[in-house]
Amino acid sequence: MSYSKNPNKKSVEQLVAKHKKHQKKLSAKTLVPQILKGNKTALSEAITILESAQANHQKIAADILHEALPHAGKSIRIGITGVPGVGKSTFIESFGLYLIQHGKKVAVLAIDPSSEKSKGSILGDKTRMNNLAIQEQAFIRPSSSRGSLGGVAQNTRESILLCEAAGFDVILIETVGVGQSEIAVHSMSDFFLLLMLAGAGDELQGIKRGIIEMADALVITKTDGKNIAASNLARSQYKSALHLFPINKNNWAPQVETISALENKGIDKVWKIIQDFEQKTKANGHFDIKRNEQQLYWMHESVKEKILSEFYQNDETKKIIAKVSKDLINGKITSQEAAKKIINTHGKTKL
Ligand code: GDP
Repeated sequence: MSYSKNPNKKSVEQLVAKHKKHQKKLSAKTLVPQILKGNKTALSEAITILESAQANHQKIAADILHEALPHAGKSIRIGITGVPGVGKSTFIESFGLYLIQHGKKVAVLAIDPSSEKSKGSILGDKTRMNNLAIQEQAFIRPSSSRGSLGGVAQNTRESILLCEAAGFDVILIETVGVGQSEIAVHSMSDFFLLLMLAGAGDELQGIKRGIIEMADALVITKTDGKNIAASNLARSQYKSALHLFPINKNNWAPQVETISALENKGIDKVWKIIQDFEQKTKANGHFDIKRNEQQLYWMHESVKEKILSEFYQNDETKKIIAKVSKDLINGKITSQEAAKKIINTHGKTKL
């Protein structure tokens, strides 16, 4: 059957036309008031716009963010990491439901730089967090997959602001131990939670050195059934290990807790730790200091990303890179000399 004979053709065309008309209407003016009312459809549409690479969308996204910004900032941003299988989504679901029961509105975002390749390894699978996803007070958004980690992280950061403008007061930002994604999540959260399995060494769990030092709390998952003894042992071991770390400048001593998300045990204790952290760091000024530092960090990251991408897209640069790469590989020049030649072609910065 040819397409033209398709009896559904008209309705398909009508749908496409309707969609296009709707897309045209999407602007800061139409979306922001809806977002401020907590409309999740408008929030989703706005996030799609900021994830889009189209130039006209980028302009709309900038306007949306500009208008939403004064209404953002009033949440607690919680970064959550841990190896695949540790129980992140099970925890997020129990924790999210717990928070909703306690009157909160919960947004779940993700940074997953691998999602481009794996077609969304976290939050992409719609069967995850079903019970949370159907809650009116919850908003779940998979990781964007726009190219570099920098791009993905920027989308997530901007999504945080929009979720806050929409009244979500707890933002959970999930990531897996892939590449530099934990560092990206750490640098956009107020509180960083590391989920761990008992009985498996840090190396076995693929936890990189430094990640434990970044954590504000370690949570040992699956403390149920046969796992209880191992979990409790792990808890005391991590507690004594953390004592050896120098005191953080915000004066917060990282906590260790055990939970069973399946049995809903310990979830309240995790929230208690986070509330305690919020209260203490707000009182000593470090909550705001950290947010300010994060803003500056992301400003510099954006500058670097922009300058680098412009530099590498420049035709002159591309030509000289091709030329010196050959010389380098043929052993005619050193990497340092090659770098010097590349940079010096631009005329502004000289090596
Ligand atoms: P993620 O990959 O880190 O998001 O991990 P999931 O939440 O998908 O959990 C991985 C597996 O561990 C699943 O089979 C879960 O049912 C199981 N799991 C998660 N939390 C618990 C728990 O508290 N207790 C037990 N026994 N199993 C759990």
